[in-house]
Amino acid sequence: MTAIQETPKHQKAKALKPGSRRPAKELCSECGLCDTYYVHYVREACAFINQQITQLETQTHGRSRNLENEDDLYFGVHQTMMAARKKQPIEGSQWTGIVSSIACEMLTQGIVEGVVCVQNTKEDRFQPMPVIARTPEDILAARVNKPTLSPNLSVLEEIEKSGMKRLLVIGVGCQIQALRAVEKQLGLEKLYVLGTPCVDNVTRAGLQKFLETTSKSPETVVHYEFMQDFRVHFKHSDGSIEKVPFFGLNTKELKDIFAPSCLSCFDYVNSLADLVVGYMGAPFGWQWIVVRNETGKEMLDLVSGQLDTQPVDSEGKRQQAVQQSIPAYDKGVTLPMWAAKLMGVVIEKIGPKGLEYARFSIDSHFTRNYLYVKRNHPEKLDAHVPEFAKKIVEQYELPK
Ligand code: FAD
Ligand code: SF4
Repeated sequence: MTAIQETPKHQKAKALKPGSRRPAKELCSECGLCDTYYVHYVREACAFINQQITQLETQTHGRSRNLENEDDLYFGVHQTMMAARKKQPIEGSQWTGIVSSIACEMLTQGIVEGVVCVQNTKEDRFQPMPVIARTPEDILAARVNKPTLSPNLSVLEEIEKSGMKRLLVIGVGCQIQALRAVEKQLGLEKLYVLGTPCVDNVTRAGLQKFLETTSKSPETVVHYEFMQDFRVHFKHSDGSIEKVPFFGLNTKELKDIFAPSCLSCFDYVNSLADLVVGYMGAPFGWQWIVVRNETGKEMLDLVSGQLDTQPVDSEGKRQQAVQQSIPAYDKGVTLPMWAAKLMGVVIEKIGPKGLEYARFSIDSHFTRNYLYVKRNHPEKLDAHVPEFAKKIVEQYELPK
């Protein structure tokens, strides 16, 4: 006699309608979970309703981060960190294309059957379109950042229905927190997670405002990055690079563009991915790799022959610069462009580099976000801010 298979409870749930208010309300980062029947788990899974990084670190890596070890405190559980770049960069990728290369290898070597990643729509280069890639061409079509909130998890329902058993998901922290929380419900034999750090994301409308306020030619920007030389680098469609110093940004105008989810996020470094590929802990032009566990090592090993690598380094002292930036940001101070340029040049020469630059960026964002949650969602402050972030923020004096 064959056993009658009970339909899992979540399959009876219904995705929320597009545009309807999400359970996390204004803090929703549009991660995509609520666009699927996994909305059934939203109260436990949503990164903005139930912050549970410590428990999920233990579930994923076998331990949570050691708050007494500075590298763990800042960068999360890891086996190794390094700087790397592709010997032959992928044209049109965000940096050198390490993320796309790993995903292509995993697919072509048959390690996974599909890759969750995000392409853009035909009409708009920055409008995210999550897909399950099944060919290297699909993966390459997803290269380069879509610097907007992206519902990557909206394709999860398709995965369970397709019967896929081995999957790679590429995503940012809030997406990966929700993914880890429902991982056991996906019916997979093996899930691989390749993360990028993420900060200061925006809605598509917010992005437009940022481009129009900051770039001389907003309509030709193909990608941009907040670089380690304290400038925003805009790459234009003709290949030219426009550089605007951070200190010259119109803070007053731009304060409202960041999504409330990103102003209350403390998972900059994507704590729950197996492998993280960013740039901020590496020298200019290099990418920063954090191998969190054995699965992450397995993924990185697939491309080791394609990479130049060097050890991570750290130089300078960040604390004073962070402390000074707190009230300046809070009051929305904008320097005249000549002063901003000068300050950028000085800071680039004497300012923090390598891992110290990464700590500078983490400290600046965590202090800003702590103040945001304290002022706008005081009832959430204690449970929502992880212990590691509280410890980082405690180093600074914050305005009321
Ligand atoms: P590529 O080979 O070009 O591949 C990029 C991959 O990113 C693609 O697979 C695509 O599916 C995925 N992707 C693109 N947009 C999104 C999105 N919105 N949500 C989820 N996945 C997406 N690194 C830092 O060190 N410090 C930062 O402050 C930082 N901020 C970031 C902010 C955002 C919004 C994003 C998306 C990334 C950020 N990163 C940051 C990561 C960094 O910019 C690069 O994405 C990373 O180094 C990989 O580069 P690559 O050339 O290997 O990627
Ligand atoms: Fe749902 Fe994700 Fe929004 Fe939370 S962040 S409410 S899980 S879509």
